[in-house]
Amino acid sequence: MNISPLADPRDTPAPHRTLRDELRDTEWRLRRALEPHPDYPFNLPFSPGASSGTALVPDINLGNPHAALPGGADFAELERQALHWLMRLWGCEDTADYWGTTCASGTEGNLLGLYLGREALPEAVLLHSAEAHGSIPGAARIQRIPARQVRSTAEGAIDLGDLAETLAGLGGRPVVLALTCGTGAAGAHDDIAGAIAVLEAAGHGPDRRFIHVDAARSGMVLPFLTDGPASIRPGFHLAIDSLSLSGQKAMGTPMPCGVLVCRRTHARRIIRPATDQRAGDTALMGSRNGPAVLAIWTRLFGRGYGAFAEEARRCTHRAQALARQLRGAGAHQVLCNPHSLTVVFPRPDDGIVRTYQLACSGGMARAVVMPSVTEAMLDCFVSDYAAWAARSGGRNDAAMTQPL
Ligand SMILES: *Cc1c(COP(=O)(O)O)cnc(C)c1O
Repeated sequence: MNISPLADPRDTPAPHRTLRDELRDTEWRLRRALEPHPDYPFNLPFSPGASSGTALVPDINLGNPHAALPGGADFAELERQALHWLMRLWGCEDTADYWGTTCASGTEGNLLGLYLGREALPEAVLLHSAEAHGSIPGAARIQRIPARQVRSTAEGAIDLGDLAETLAGLGGRPVVLALTCGTGAAGAHDDIAGAIAVLEAAGHGPDRRFIHVDAARSGMVLPFLTDGPASIRPGFHLAIDSLSLSGQKAMGTPMPCGVLVCRRTHARRIIRPATDQRAGDTALMGSRNGPAVLAIWTRLFGRGYGAFAEEARRCTHRAQALARQLRGAGAHQVLCNPHSLTVVFPRPDDGIVRTYQLACSGGMARAVVMPSVTEAMLDCFVSDYAAWAARSGGRNDAAMTQPL
């Protein structure tokens, strides 16, 4: 297959020979680039080791991936290819109109997204739902962006009625709205199109709002479910401004990392003067994790669109089936949001919680049907849960009183 930066992610996966060739060429280029290297304070104590299918020399990515110098000791070319793949997945029609970078994690993606929003609208108030990840209000505190919390529905998505009321109380101040695609507690997806309609109705057109979508969890799930509603699918087919992802979740990189993509006009606002390394630096961090770039690239191009799409369909169907099985086993109050991998149910006894390492909050527990969760494990879990529910009537009243 064609592994040019503009390769459509829907292309079939690369034959392994092509992938290996690309990795081997990259490794040789890195070795050559690092040999005579008096210009950067690398310490090179490691001998090359196997990682992500290739021998690695220590590597960092510096500066703006889109302005990297050819032949540098970095993975900037692979980073650009991975970013283009994801831009296509996330509905960027002309990828030249967008900018992206790999990040240390989904948290850095949120920090950078809100920074872009603050620079676009310095007077803005940040709005986020009660179910937003802690890194959203955290990023607001770090950057001293005034923040207001909007209520969530019982299913965990942003409450659009409360969003309208909150906007009405802002006296016309511009807003940075942080939406979540896949919340931690309930795997809920904020209605992105619905939120945009609420903003428009309140007079917050594109010049009075900035929308960041935290798609740490579902940014590599929902875009593959083409039968799902476009209103919750994270991407630039909707009038959003930036979108971030965690690499170690559905994408499956072996180390924490992330990706942020935004409209290029926003990246231009944060460009810093040229450093000694790169022209026009835009990255938040100085050095970025080169092996993480390689891992992202290998996951995307090694597996291809079809494998991710199959996995997204299988896991979302399996999560719905798990919810049905738990209801059938006598659990009260089971929640599995549409197109979600997360199932929430009454917390069973501590033995089951420990065995299956269930995340709990008060009287409820949560399972996330990731691709690595096997059918055999789910069968065992359902059978243990059914035995507990038969003993207890499907309620854990003691757990309801425990602190969160
Ligand atoms: C995991 C997660 C994050 C943070 O991502 P890290 O990669 O752990 O920094 C942000 N938002 C949501 C919704 C998450 O699930």
